[in-house]
Amino acid sequence: MNFSTEQLPGAVEINEVGPRDGFQAEDEFMPTECKVEIIDALSRTGVAAIQVTSVVHPKAVPQLADAEDVMARIERAPGVRYTVLVPNLRGAERAVPMGADGWELMLSVTDSHSRSNANRNTDEALRGMEPVVALARENGVEVTGSMATALGCPFEGKVPFERVLYVAEAYRAMGVRHLGVADTVGVADPRLVFETMSGLKERLPGITLGLHLHNTRGMALANVLAALQAGVTEFDSSVGGLGGCPFAPGATGNISTEDLVHMLDLMGVGSGVDLDSMLAVAREVKEVVGHPLESAVARAGKAEDLHEAPQAQAL
Ligand code: ZN
Repeated sequence: MNFSTEQLPGAVEINEVGPRDGFQAEDEFMPTECKVEIIDALSRTGVAAIQVTSVVHPKAVPQLADAEDVMARIERAPGVRYTVLVPNLRGAERAVPMGADGWELMLSVTDSHSRSNANRNTDEALRGMEPVVALARENGVEVTGSMATALGCPFEGKVPFERVLYVAEAYRAMGVRHLGVADTVGVADPRLVFETMSGLKERLPGITLGLHLHNTRGMALANVLAALQAGVTEFDSSVGGLGGCPFAPGATGNISTEDLVHMLDLMGVGSGVDLDSMLAVAREVKEVVGHPLESAVARAGKAEDLHEAPQAQAL
């Protein structure tokens, strides 16, 4: 029997989210010039997109209070999409002059998570996105409709597929053609990922799907394989695996870009990302954040790295 790669996509796109999802989770405010330096280095690795920052209220996320500055100072590489996370209309109004290529809208699929995060239930959050989508359209900005807790909720546990579909269809009704499915707390398993992603593909033809995985319980790379088998070709990941889990202090958050690219390289699935360049950025990130990274390949080296065999000890 051969391992079947027939259904696997030949290439995928990587959306680097470390500068937003990762930096916002750091205890210390990262100086703007460090952020800009790292984003510029990421721009040269071959990633398709970078989520640069968020226009969330600076009081809620002080680490990203310099969003305007960062967007203005980065050097945009041709072919890379630079996006901003937009939580609401106030944020969207702030984001317009930043000139991002795309806005990622974020809301929770489950009411309890939505209430705890955004002080409103999912339907209210969806209604709040309508003027945001309209403003994006007026300004020629592409929109991604992200669905937090789509693969599991810290308060409600398993989320029925119908619930995910309901939110996805609400986004589609607004004219959103690009959706993001997020395993916000890292509880998804490969079977759930395969069933959810293939189910959404089947029910929402013409919609592009991305996947945002967390490695909190060590299932992220297995989930990538399941998603590839379901035909998913867009993955979020974070350099060094930056980004924690708010419900499990000290636990791992985002899947690391190095680990993802390393596995894709070995499997012959193109990502356009140069692993050595990404590992070099990870080393820079480690210096700046001052703590170890959640990246197996950054720690252990690549599978193809050879070591010198030790000489037998002469007796
Ligand atoms: Zn994340």
